[in-house]
Formats: sequence, C-alpha cells, structure tokens
Amino acid sequence: MLFRGSFSLICNPESWSSCLLSPILLAPTLTAEIIAIGSELLAPDRTDTNSLWLTEKLNSIGIEVKLKTIVGDDDSRLEETIRDAVKRSRVVITTGGLGPTEDDITRKVAARALGRRLLLDEALLDGIRKRFQSFGLTMPERNSRQAMVIDGAEVLDNPNGTAPGLFIEHDDTSVALLPGPPREMRPMFENHVQPRLESKAGHLRVVRRVLRVAGMGESAVDERIAPIYTRYANPQTTILFNKSEIEVQLTARGRTEADAETLLDKVSSELEEELGHSIFAFRGEQMEEVVGLRLSVGGYTIAVAESCTGGLIAERLTDVAGSSRYFIEGVVAYSNESKTRTVGVEPVLLLEHGAVSAPVAEAMAEGIRKRAGTDFGLAVTGIAGPGGGTEEKPVGLVYIALASEVQTEHRKLMLPGDRQLIRWRASQAALDLLRRRLI
Ligand code: ATP
Repeated sequence: MLFRGSFSLICNPESWSSCLLSPILLAPTLTAEIIAIGSELLAPDRTDTNSLWLTEKLNSIGIEVKLKTIVGDDDSRLEETIRDAVKRSRVVITTGGLGPTEDDITRKVAARALGRRLLLDEALLDGIRKRFQSFGLTMPERNSRQAMVIDGAEVLDNPNGTAPGLFIEHDDTSVALLPGPPREMRPMFENHVQPRLESKAGHLRVVRRVLRVAGMGESAVDERIAPIYTRYANPQTTILFNKSEIEVQLTARGRTEADAETLLDKVSSELEEELGHSIFAFRGEQMEEVVGLRLSVGGYTIAVAESCTGGLIAERLTDVAGSSRYFIEGVVAYSNESKTRTVGVEPVLLLEHGAVSAPVAEAMAEGIRKRAGTDFGLAVTGIAGPGGGTEEKPVGLVYIALASEVQTEHRKLMLPGDRQLIRWRASQAALDLLRRRLI
C-alpha cells in the first residue's frame, strides 16, 4: 500500500526507510472537472473537442482533470451535475449553453445549483446592445438574457461573440462558465481563466515525458518498474499498451520547467537501469526515428525485403525525414517466385522449408543486402491471416532476419492480433532487431 503525504512525502509503510522527500515541496494537485453542455453533443456524429483542449491546458498548469461530463439541454440533469461537481472538484469548467435561445440554460441552472441569484447587469446589457449596433442591427430582446449575471460572478469579455462568460469563486471551488464555440471559448479561457487558475495552482509547470518499451508485455514491464515508480507521487506514472509497444508516461510538476525536468531525469534513469535497452525512446520518439538516427549516426545503410508486412517497414523507415541517407531499397517479395527472382532465395529452400521459415527469412535478408550493396539487410516472412494458417504454421507465425557482413540472425515470433496488428507488430519487431544490433 502506498501512502502519499500532502507535501510530496512518499512512503511505503512496509519499509519506512524507503521514504523519499521530493526535493521540491508542492501543494497537492488541484482537481478539475469539465462539463460540456448541449444536446447536440450527444448526437452520434458530434465530438466534445472543447474538453480535450481544456484538459491539455489544465494539465499544463498542473491541474488534473478527474471527470468529464456531457449533459444535454436538460434543466434537472444539468443542475444535479453542477451541484455534484462543485462539491467534489476545486475547479469546474462548463462550456456551451450561454447563447440567447430558449435551450441555452447554463446561466440560470448554474445559478440555481450554486444557490445564487441571477441579476441583470445594466452595463453588460448596454455593451451587448452596442455590439449589435456596431453591425447596424437592433439587439433582439431575447439577447438581454445574456446580460443576466450570477450574483458574485465576474463577467468575462467575449470579443468573438455575444455570450459573455462568468467566473465565480464558490466556497473553495472556481467555477467558469464559458461559451460553446471553440473560437469564443479558447481565447476566453487563455485570457481570463488560465491566469486565475495558474495562481490558484501555485504557478506550477508540468512537463510530460513518454518512454517507449519494445519486446515486453504490459504486466512484465509493470512488475519490473512498479517498485520504482510507486515511490514517487511526483512524477506521476501511467503505463499504456499501444499496438506493439508499452508507453510509460511520466508527468512531473515543478516550480519551474527545469525543476520538473530534474525529477523526470531522476526517475527515467532509474527506469533505464531496470529495463535497459528495452527502452527504445526517452522522448516519445517512434521506433523508425530511433533506428533512423542510429543508422545515420553510424553512417550505415539498409535495404529491406518484406513478405507479410507488404512494404510497411520500408514505409515506416522512409517516413522519417532525411531517410535517403541510409535507406537504399525496399522490395515486397510476396510470392515464392518473387522471393527467388528479386532477392535470390534458392527454390530448394522454399521447397524444403516453405516460404515462412527461418532459412528463407535469412536468405531474404542476405539476398536484399547483396542486391542493394548495403551494410544491413532486413527481412520478414510470416502468416498475417486471417487465412493461410496450418497446425504446423499458424496465423501469427513470423520470421524476421537481419544480415550484415559478419553475421545473419533470425527470430521466430508468434504474434497475436488481427491481420493489421500482426503486420504492425512484425514490422516493429524487425526494426527492434536492427536497433538492438546498432546499439
Ligand atoms: P452561442 O452564443 O454561440 O449560442 P453557446 O455558449 O450557447 O454560444 P452552444 O449553443 O452551446 O454555445 O454551442 C454553439 C456551437 O459551439 C455548437 O453548435 C458547436 O458547434 C460548438 N460547441 C459547443 N460545445 C462544444 C464542445 N464541447 N466541443 C466542441 N464544439 C462545441
């Protein structure tokens, strides 16, 4: 069990000697929730992009989003949602429903949920009227409801629309009511809400680092690194499984970016000690970028011969800018005939072992290397499915091989997943084989 004190004092009660006092004393993380309002957001083809944008902004100033809700234009559901939100979160942000129409209910419902009155702000009304006049229009009467202000709220200017926002300090909770259209909401948040929340959050800087791990499963990674990351509340660690790799996300809070980076350096070097070369990226780089950099730095060249990956490895390698320095040639040798004609696999090997076999993978790697005159030849042959598998050679069986002047090696893999996933995982394993050789 892990105990987290309120000032980054992190202790495992079973081993008190392991207590670590984070070098920077920080207030506990502020928690936020976002409420997206509008029945149209519940339609199957609409996405609540405001919450995604706001989450990134809040995270960047050290505020953690604990909950997001989408509520239709429904008085009682919205009232209940806002009432609960202010009880459990120190920051509550709503977007939408501030317009002049009947279904724009945010202002009045929020007032009710907070137990505050709605008052007409004459100056605000005058401003809205003048905005209409500046376009040569008369303000429709219904727009006057946009001049209703929750008692005690600050009015947030909206230069891009008629709906002003509202900011209320309610007990211990900051509540911001923002308009729905992103072009109105975003500047209002950045200009008026963010500075207020930054000071509430203690002017923290949040820095995120993504480590990527190849060749290990999620639980194996967690088993190895949990004893390390559970000793730290800052940075926070999240482990994600992503197609063919494990992502370890570290999020550090500090008074300055440099403070946060120092914490990240410390934890990532401990993780590196534990996982070694299985970590292929320390700054979120893709496998092909890492491999490309190593080829480039070493001045090496590469050519690939692919069967079941159908050109995916070549595509990934050439996706990286500057890859012409090291990538010479790629061949998709799909049929047996092509394996012989393009990369010189002896027909007898195909006959004796079949196309999906270690000898054929090695012959493909050697063949493409010879043909292209490169330092390395990389090859893949396998059964991506869904058909084509046998008891002896089931779907997911893949051989990867790497040839250089001094050595040819291969790996036999049994990859889970559907056709797309097997192809992707095969490409990742092949690139990883090359990466490890280049270390
Ligand atoms: P307005 O004065 O424009 O009526 P409002 O605050 O009432 O402002 P809404 O009517 O709720 O805003 O939404 C207007 C438009 O803003 C929506 O049709 C949609 O295009 C966009 N919008 C609203 N909420 C979101 C959201 N959460 N994510 C992305 N877009 C949104």
